[in-house]
Amino acid sequence: MTDYIYADNAATTRLAPEVLEAMKPWLTDCYGNASGLYRAGREARRAIEKSRSTIAELIDCEPGEIYFTSGGTESDNWALAGTLKRAAPEGKTHLITDGIEHHAVLHTAEALEKEGFSVSYASADRKGRISPESVRALMRPETALVSVMFANNEIGTIQPVKEIGEICREYGVAFHTDAVQAAGILPIDVDALNIDLLSMSAHKFYGPKGIGLLYCRRGKAPLNLMHGGKQEKTRRPGTENTALIVGMAEAYRIACEERETKAQQLQEMKDILICGLSHIRGSKINGDIVSSLPGTVNFSFEGTDGQSLVMELDSLGVAASSGSACTSGNTEPSHVLRAIGLPHALAQGALRISLGRYNTEEEARELVARIKKAVDTVRL
Ligand code: PLP
Repeated sequence: MTDYIYADNAATTRLAPEVLEAMKPWLTDCYGNASGLYRAGREARRAIEKSRSTIAELIDCEPGEIYFTSGGTESDNWALAGTLKRAAPEGKTHLITDGIEHHAVLHTAEALEKEGFSVSYASADRKGRISPESVRALMRPETALVSVMFANNEIGTIQPVKEIGEICREYGVAFHTDAVQAAGILPIDVDALNIDLLSMSAHKFYGPKGIGLLYCRRGKAPLNLMHGGKQEKTRRPGTENTALIVGMAEAYRIACEERETKAQQLQEMKDILICGLSHIRGSKINGDIVSSLPGTVNFSFEGTDGQSLVMELDSLGVAASSGSACTSGNTEPSHVLRAIGLPHALAQGALRISLGRYNTEEEARELVARIKKAVDTVRL
């Protein structure tokens, strides 16, 4: 066991060495622009299209339905803003989402509201689940899109994506899911799950940062947000980053190959955490322990505050998070915990531990000990 324990894999993951190896040629000798007609360009093009096909096969779609982007944030922005803007001329100006989405969705929804679109928010229950019927209740004749995440980044709750997608089909409404936390951990089959648009980001499954994708079912591609060259069938212009695309495909291939074994290992480590942390006085687990990501756990500790806990744990050699990384430095309690009905004091004292590929059971046990110590210190 190393002295330093990284337990913030929901924020980002370490680049897998195999992925770095796959990327290296495209960062060094093979620097051709994939639009070039000469050999170096053709090689880059081949590598990009091979990567697209690899991912397409793994999520059960056509390669032409995958568009590479700069990550989850861009994919979410594009899915929401592009779909609503495309549908607006037909009078479809309404979006349904929910209050526990990542800010990449929530802040896009807010921006769309300012532009005159209307947005309805389905409520999550106390475990963070969005019921399909609550989505149905919000449907209107002018609804263009439903966006409900696959799994939550703070509490790990997995949503009934298939059932929500089924309702969208019934109403002829497009369905987007932010699968940034689920990809590489849960199986994704866009057809079986009735998904029309899906966001993924490589740095959450041991791939490089700055690369993601938006899956768009044929005929459902959103309006462009950017204009430029002919890349990505003119929908997402800009010179392709071959190394990042190759890295993403390799990372996703490995993640899918290892998924079942890893999920079991993660669940075993998570059980150690749940069992150990539940014994701390004034602790409460947040989210759904049955239907949730195998490596993510969120606890509140009465009489503490999450920021101080994170800092104390840092001094004890642990990297964990008090909420989503994008809101760190923000002292407001997490919008997710507030939306599932946690009182302010408990939401304030929350800690997210997210385990990954490189954690061990020994580390999980050591985490329990260090967290107990940190809680005691912060409570003094
Ligand atoms: N959506 C979810 C659920 C996330 O957890 C994140 C990152 O934390 C994002 C979107 C943003 O992804 P990216 O960092 O690739 O922009």
